[in-house]
Amino acid sequence: MSMRPFWIEQALFNDGDLAPALQGAQRADVCIVGGGFTGLWTAIQAKQLNPALDIVLLESDLCGAGASGRNGGCLLTWSAKFFTLRRLFGEAEAVRLVRASEAAVQHIADFCREHGIDAELRQDGTLYTATSRAQIGTLEPVMRGLEACGIQSYWTLPPDEVVRRSGSARNLAGVYSPIAATVHPGKLVRGLRRTALAMGIRIHERSPMLDFSTGHPVTVRTPAGSIEAKKLVLAINAWMASQFPQFERTIAIVSSDMVITERCPELLRRIGFTDGVSVLDSRTFVYYYRSTADGRIMLGKGGNTFSWGGRIAPVFDQRSPYEVELTQALHSFFPALEGTPITASWNGPSDRSVTGFPFFGRLNGAPHIHYGFGYSGNGVGPTYMGGQILSSLLLDLDNAWTRSPLTQGPRGYFPPEPLRYVGSIVVRNAIRRKERAEDEGRQPWQVDRMLSKLANAAGKADKA
Ligand SMILES: Cc1cc2nc3c(=O)[nH]c(=O)nc-3n(C[C@H](O)[C@H](O)[C@H](O)COP(=O)(O)OP(=O)(O)OC[C@H]3O[C@@H](n4cnc5c(N)ncnc54)[C@H](O)[C@@H]3O)c2cc1C
Repeated sequence: MSMRPFWIEQALFNDGDLAPALQGAQRADVCIVGGGFTGLWTAIQAKQLNPALDIVLLESDLCGAGASGRNGGCLLTWSAKFFTLRRLFGEAEAVRLVRASEAAVQHIADFCREHGIDAELRQDGTLYTATSRAQIGTLEPVMRGLEACGIQSYWTLPPDEVVRRSGSARNLAGVYSPIAATVHPGKLVRGLRRTALAMGIRIHERSPMLDFSTGHPVTVRTPAGSIEAKKLVLAINAWMASQFPQFERTIAIVSSDMVITERCPELLRRIGFTDGVSVLDSRTFVYYYRSTADGRIMLGKGGNTFSWGGRIAPVFDQRSPYEVELTQALHSFFPALEGTPITASWNGPSDRSVTGFPFFGRLNGAPHIHYGFGYSGNGVGPTYMGGQILSSLLLDLDNAWTRSPLTQGPRGYFPPEPLRYVGSIVVRNAIRRKERAEDEGRQPWQVDRMLSKLANAAGKADKA
């Protein structure tokens, strides 16, 4: 990758050394491919479960070069997607998964504290807001559904309180959940890498997997070496679709675009927006923003650029093509920021599955090759669960994770190209027209409302 993500630049300041590339033929019990949150959590949790396990992790660039070092750092749960979980998996599993996603927030915070990872993690909750009349009340049925199952995750706030907590009068209404956090993604992913190394996990950066033999053991080849391993875990996220044709139609690769301001702590203090709350509005491709611990504001939005045929286009590695639009959106939330320069913009590939949830499984049914991806723009917290699932699978455990329907592979396919690409653009444009109309207090066209529902079918509150 050519452009080093903004967060990684900041994190590498404290952590400049890269792990050496793999050289020569080596052996391990487990080989994990992909040095993002999924690969690192899997390695760490497997090592915690069985300290004797010899684990090697291969990363094609540097740990955090993918989505894990580029995201918005909004550590969220699956509670807002409860209805989709219930429709897919039944009530008992949906409740278990919501609770597990809520527990993941605390587990990540505890892990950082225990291992001295200063990921700037602030457990100040999240606000789901409405930025147009049409969005008001979107989450209410979900709140009632959760409450009926004994989960009290959200509270409706009075409008003036929403404005105060979110720092912006553009938010007309909102509900608050204390079970959420924000993190510095670069410091988290590099901190996990450091901890994994300290636990004895062998990491090789700049070591792309070129291919592997499917025999038992597997042999994974990189440009200058190979690993023979009893088990293989593929944790390469959006890259699965281009590297494994059988997954090409299981995800749509969609950008999430982001801008971040210069440091402006004084201004944030004046606005009263200084804590670690994340704010998401309730449109289909939501606006989300938060402050950072070093006094900036970051705003992101998913669903702008779609890739053809599951390929990671060069645009995912450049400044955001939507920088101007995002900056305008930022100023519409915070007019006081108009004189504050934008330090950086970027985007990255998000792996949007048909259901909006990740899926895990065995590659072509092989008992020793596991994979997991498809977080659909909500992965900072759920990749911890990905680690629970993949570590349980590779250790052949019999537990709620290995029995979960999440381990049964993809639950739907997008149409083949060119239909998927053309369809994505048609739906995206319909959503844009519908939301522009709603922002301006107009009635959207009926056809745009219908097309927008196609994207909503997978559930609300995704960020990409
Ligand atoms: C711009 C953006 C903003 C986002 N914002 C949020 C947010 O605020 N909150 C949230 O919850 N989620 C967010 N997400 C989603 C979240 O970041 C991801 O779901 C999560 O990071 C996925 O982690 P991962 O480890 O599965 O994938 P990745 O972090 O993408 O890791 C995969 C790794 O595999 C490596 N790789 C690929 N091919 C090979 C190979 N052949 N050999 C070796 N290595 C290989 C890649 O270099 C990469 O480092 C965002 C995503 C993006 C792109």
